[in-house]
Amino acid sequence: MTAWLFDNGQLIDGTARAACSDALLVVDDTIAAVGEEALARARHLDRLERVDLAGRTLMPGLIDAHCHLSFDDASSNSEIFFQRRNALSALTAAYNARKLLRAGVTGILDPDSVFENMVDVRDAQESGLIQAPRIACGCYALIPGLGGTAGGLIRDEGVTGYYRVVNGRDEIMAEVRRQIKVGADWIKVHVSGVAPRYAYLGEQCSWTLDELKLICEVAHDLGVPVMGHCRGDESTRRAVLSGMDLLFHATGISADTTALIIDRRIPVCPALTFQANMIDHGAMLGTDPSIIALFEREIRDSVDNMKRLHQAGVPLLCGSESGFSMVPYGHWHYREMEVFMRYFGMSALEAISCGTQNGAIALKMQGKTGALKAGMKADLLVVNGDPLKDVTVLGQSERIAGVWLNGKSMDLSAPQARKPIRGWVVPTMGSRLENPNVRDHADGEL
Ligand SMILES: [Zn+2]
Repeated sequence: MTAWLFDNGQLIDGTARAACSDALLVVDDTIAAVGEEALARARHLDRLERVDLAGRTLMPGLIDAHCHLSFDDASSNSEIFFQRRNALSALTAAYNARKLLRAGVTGILDPDSVFENMVDVRDAQESGLIQAPRIACGCYALIPGLGGTAGGLIRDEGVTGYYRVVNGRDEIMAEVRRQIKVGADWIKVHVSGVAPRYAYLGEQCSWTLDELKLICEVAHDLGVPVMGHCRGDESTRRAVLSGMDLLFHATGISADTTALIIDRRIPVCPALTFQANMIDHGAMLGTDPSIIALFEREIRDSVDNMKRLHQAGVPLLCGSESGFSMVPYGHWHYREMEVFMRYFGMSALEAISCGTQNGAIALKMQGKTGALKAGMKADLLVVNGDPLKDVTVLGQSERIAGVWLNGKSMDLSAPQARKPIRGWVVPTMGSRLENPNVRDHADGEL
C-alpha cells in the first residue's frame, strides 16, 4: 500500500468552492480523506510519504477536453492527411503525452485521430505500457460528402486523415457500430463544414437533422455518447436537437440556440485557445490579418452566449486544440482558463473548475476524477505558487512541482530532445524564383 499526505499549503478542490488549507490523504489510487480526518488517519499509517505544500497549491490535475495527440504539432491539414504514418504517429503521441503530464494534465479527450490510433495509445496507457494522462477518445470524425473544415482535401468517400466520409443511412449506421466495436469512447461528428467556393458563408451545417439523429440513435442504443464540432447557429441547433452529448465550439449561435442548450444542459467545450493565441501572437507568426480578425470575431461574438451558458449552470469545458503548431503540446493547456477569465469574466476558481471538475465529463468519469473529494481518483497537481492570484503559473513548467495519476507520482523529467522525422512535413520546392529579365504582365493589370 502506498499512501501520500499533502498538507501545510493551499488546496483548491476543483468545485469552485473557496480555497482552503485542508490536508489531503491518498491511499493507493484514491483520495482517502480531506481535512482533519486525513491527518487523523495518516497518524496510523507507517508507510506514508508526506508532501509539504508550503508556498504551493494542491489541486486536481488539468483535464484537456480537446486535444489531438496523434497530430504531432502539425502546421497544416495536408501534413496530417498525407504525411503521417500509423505506428509512427502512435509513437509520437506517446512521446508527446509526457509533455502533457509535465504541464499538469492528467486527462484528455482526443476527439479524432489519424488511423484512429488513439484507441491503441489509450489502451497502452491503461495497461501501463506508457506513462500518459488518462485518455478518452473518438475514432475518425464522421463527415458527409461535403467534407469537414478541410474542404477539397477530403476524398469523396472513405478515410482521409482523421475524417471518414459516410454517405447515406447504411454507411452511417455501419460506421458508428464499427467505431464502437473498435473501442471508441465517443462518436465524433463534424456537424459543420465548409466548401471552398462558399467559404464566405463560414462553416455551414452539412447534415440533415435526420442524419444527425440517426448517428445519435445508433450510438446511444449501444451506450456511447456523441460529440459534435459545430460552428454557426444552424449546426449547433441541429446538434442539440439530434441529442448530442457534448458540443465543441458552439460559436456564432443565436439567443434561441443558447436557450436550447441551457434547456438540455449540454456541456460545451468552446476550445478558443487556438483563436486566443492567433489574436495575441498571430501577427508575430506572419498570420494573415484577415484570419486574425476572423478568429477575434469568433471569440468576441461568443462572449454573451458563453456567459449565459455559464451563469445558467451549463458546464463549460477547457480544450486546448493541441496537435497543431499554434498550440504545441505541453505549452497551452492552462490557457483556456485564462481565456474564460479574460473574455467571459469568470473568477479563477470558476475557470479552474472548468479545467478540472467539468473536464471529467469528457473522460466519462464525472464524480470519479476532476475534484479533490474523498473516494475520487487521486489525479493531482502540485504547483509552486497561487493560481488564484495568477492563473498563468499553471503554464510555467518549472512551477509544476508534482503530478499524481491514480495515486502514482508521475515522472516529470524532460524527455530527450528529438530530431525531425523524415517525410513528416509537407515538402515544398521553395519560393517563387523569378528571372529578372522577364516581365510577365503589364503594369496595373489586375
Ligand atoms: Zn480539434
